[in-house]
Amino acid sequence: MAPSSSGVVVASLPSVFEILKPAVGPSSSHTLGPMAAAQAFARLAADRGKPGDRIRVELYGSLAFTGRGHLTDLAVAAGLAGYGPRELAGTSLEEVARGVREAGRVRVEGRDVLFDLDQDVVFDATAKNLPHPNTMRFSLVASDGSGVLSETYASVGGGRVAGGTFGELDASRAEGGTISMSRVLAECERAKIDLAEYAYRHEEADHAHTRSAVDAHLGEMWGMMRESVERGLAAEGTLPGTLRLERRAQGLYARFQKALPHFHVLSPEASLASIYAIAAAEENAAGGAVVTAPTCGSCGVVPACLRVVQEKMACSDDEILRALLVASLIGAMIATNASISGAEVGCQGEIGAASAMAAGAVCALLGGNPRDQVDRAAESALEHYLGLTCDPVDGLVQIPCIERNAAGAVSALNAAGLAMMSAGGDRVSFDAVVDAMRRTGLDLDARYKETARGGLAAATDLGG
Ligand code: SF4
Repeated sequence: MAPSSSGVVVASLPSVFEILKPAVGPSSSHTLGPMAAAQAFARLAADRGKPGDRIRVELYGSLAFTGRGHLTDLAVAAGLAGYGPRELAGTSLEEVARGVREAGRVRVEGRDVLFDLDQDVVFDATAKNLPHPNTMRFSLVASDGSGVLSETYASVGGGRVAGGTFGELDASRAEGGTISMSRVLAECERAKIDLAEYAYRHEEADHAHTRSAVDAHLGEMWGMMRESVERGLAAEGTLPGTLRLERRAQGLYARFQKALPHFHVLSPEASLASIYAIAAAEENAAGGAVVTAPTCGSCGVVPACLRVVQEKMACSDDEILRALLVASLIGAMIATNASISGAEVGCQGEIGAASAMAAGAVCALLGGNPRDQVDRAAESALEHYLGLTCDPVDGLVQIPCIERNAAGAVSALNAAGLAMMSAGGDRVSFDAVVDAMRRTGLDLDARYKETARGGLAAATDLGG
């Protein structure tokens, strides 16, 4: 890597536009990623296809095991019909998919392409030697059965897609990345800048994003995060899916406001962070609009922590946006050097990553210095999630996912608080714990990587 003209080492870290982005629940890797792949393939199909052609989709690995609970087939239908998270505002995956099912076709760029939602999406849990645990193949088939076009994609976490039209799968990630936090910290010290400033320069140098574009994006994401918490606090009823789980955030918030004594075993801030995290996570489980941070399943952790600190410390929105940049930088680091995909490394890559992002962001918001406090906060938060399994009951992003957001938020606040009180001298670096997370993820049995075949998913009989 060479220093860029801005003086920042050019690093191929994902942009803040990739780590924090608009989404619809319940899953970034199983809903958002397949929707994006379907959108891309539909454009190819419209370009290369002929009347009478049909689109077929095969979902493999974790997508086959938990795709139904994560609405992957509906997301594929919506994506083929040209819908992304923004276009879904005011409607829902179910509604769009119903239209596609009834039509038996999707209309792409003025062309009709045949697609039977019930017949043309195959969940194949038997395929072996996949290039990625979340692999999908999209094919365009002529009316005589001959293949016209085929693309293989992988949903690599947080809604990001690799392969096919998105570029080759990056096999080197299995060996770990090369963009270390220690290098970023050294760069900050050399240039006498903080991590948020580093992130701004990185966006400019690597992704050609101006500061005003980054600020506008962060402002929109912070607004969406707050709205997801607000909607979650106001909503009642039952979440979709076989578990028939009652929403809890509204009742918890009402009882918190009555200041029932047993709510304050910890600090009021810890209780509030838990409730806010549950509110956003319930919105996600209901298929609502959320922000990946870094994923949909873990979308409640970062907004909950930042909202609590903003309320307590009266931080400005500008300060929050800088903290979000730090959160994104930490998430990008984990995505590059390990993974933010539950199907690749288990829940340590989702709730663990979110907790590290929130801890680092809160620490930066409180004025922590990058090396001795922000790095330490993120490290400490992630360290205690090493080995955490992804075991969603009935393949739904509900149990244990919703409460894990609360746990992730509280442990992030704890990690940030301890880091702020620390006098330096941490024995484990953030880079070391990310590497440990990557290696632990590789060692985890497939039953614990978003297949709903192990852990809590196998130990309970809660489904319908
Ligand atoms: S258990 Fe964790 S990684 Fe798995 S779906 Fe739930 S939140 Fe995502």
